[in-house]
Amino acid sequence: MKVTVFGIGYVGLVQAAVLAEVGHDVMCIDVDETKVENLKKGVIPIYEPGLTPLVMKNYEEGRLQFSTDAQAGVSHGVIQFIAVGTPPDEDGSADLKYVTAVARTIAQHMTAHKVVLDKSTVPVGTAEKVRDAMQAVLNERGVEYPFDVVSNPEFLKEGAAVADCMRPERIVIGTDNDEVVNILRELYEPFNRNHDRMILMDIRSAELTKYAANCMLATKISFMNEIANLAEQLGADIEKVRQGIGSDSRIGYHFIYPGCGYGGSCFPKDVQALIRTSEQIGYTPRLLQAVETVNNEQKKKLPTFVVRHFGEDLKGKTFAVWGLSFKPNTDDMREASSRVLLETLWSKGAKVQAFDPEAMDEAQRIYGHRDDLSLMGTKEAALHNADALIICTEWQNFRAPDFDLLKNTLKHPVIFDGRNLYDPERLNKRGFVYYAIGRGESI
Ligand code: NAD
Repeated sequence: MKVTVFGIGYVGLVQAAVLAEVGHDVMCIDVDETKVENLKKGVIPIYEPGLTPLVMKNYEEGRLQFSTDAQAGVSHGVIQFIAVGTPPDEDGSADLKYVTAVARTIAQHMTAHKVVLDKSTVPVGTAEKVRDAMQAVLNERGVEYPFDVVSNPEFLKEGAAVADCMRPERIVIGTDNDEVVNILRELYEPFNRNHDRMILMDIRSAELTKYAANCMLATKISFMNEIANLAEQLGADIEKVRQGIGSDSRIGYHFIYPGCGYGGSCFPKDVQALIRTSEQIGYTPRLLQAVETVNNEQKKKLPTFVVRHFGEDLKGKTFAVWGLSFKPNTDDMREASSRVLLETLWSKGAKVQAFDPEAMDEAQRIYGHRDDLSLMGTKEAALHNADALIICTEWQNFRAPDFDLLKNTLKHPVIFDGRNLYDPERLNKRGFVYYAIGRGESI
């Protein structure tokens, strides 16, 4: 099938590459000329495991095209994906300007029936706004073409996006038109062979499903962080508690890791957006507000530990920081807890030597102008002349470091671990002072 994808970001590019891989003829449109030109040269704008070879292969074999020519994009596919960003606007609501811009573009250029699939995460009622925006442009043009607007939220996880799109756990389709369902069954048939993953519903329910999913996941994290903070005060070990509750099949072990707060482009903005949606209809979302508050506080946890150990004034101190991305296997630093840590350390006069396996370019882009940040080539190099080590992201490669080297290289044998990677007792025996999340007082 001929498919057009507007927006070549984490969602659009991965979805496009995966659709091309199963044989669809996919044209990607983005307003970012540099991104489009780079993609044509094989330069992939994001780090996502398995993505580069997939994009290169399908581009070279002609099933995947990149362009800034919106008109060509609109005429290419019956199916038009909207996969542009929906960042928070000033009050935290989802900013729909990119989504409605694409809707108007499609209406501006369409000369036949189009099925517009909204992959962006958008508040309930957005499909109606997209429909109105398109109809207004068609009215201005004085033409009448049929079109459908479908909610098709994306559930991929950054860091496992290719695998998630190749083998989705579910394909949520929100539509009021049965004929569209047949078109989408054909589109998603290659991903639907093992069992039927398509969950059909009305548009508003599909839009809310995406927010409900992200808010539930954020709630699990904030819940565990709250219990971790209690454990810390009560002299209990959250890691033991985690295993104790995870063994209950109604709770399960997934996604109940305490840490230094959730980040990324989705959880913070989607929790915030659902809070705003609730407020707009006069409902006070007490649980979601608490989820957000707990998370904002949790991001201050590591700097608080540092100050507890070294004092308020950190002038003259240098910290090694391992991990900058908001989670492993991505270069994405949007809303990462590392950013709160770095900015707090700098505000207290400290210097930082940081290493991340994939987010160094992104860190350079965001903080490259600062002379109190040194981006180091290896995790070991980050330790040289550093007063202590701080861990923000649970990259595999950080799980079993050479602790003798760590002890001999750091000025003080102190580790602040925002991801609970190590055994406190073992580190204690080796002479480290080890701060972790919810594991009792420092030892
Ligand atoms: P992104 O910022 O990585 O990419 C968005 C792209 O859209 C950019 O390349 C931008 O240049 C392009 N764009 C903006 N306006 C455009 C226009 N008028 N025409 C064509 N292209 C345009 O965003 P993302 O992380 O891929 O997220 C996209 C949407 O998907 C958001 O609503 C997000 O909440 C949702 N989502 C993201 C994830 C994730 O893990 N990143 C997962 C599920 C859902």
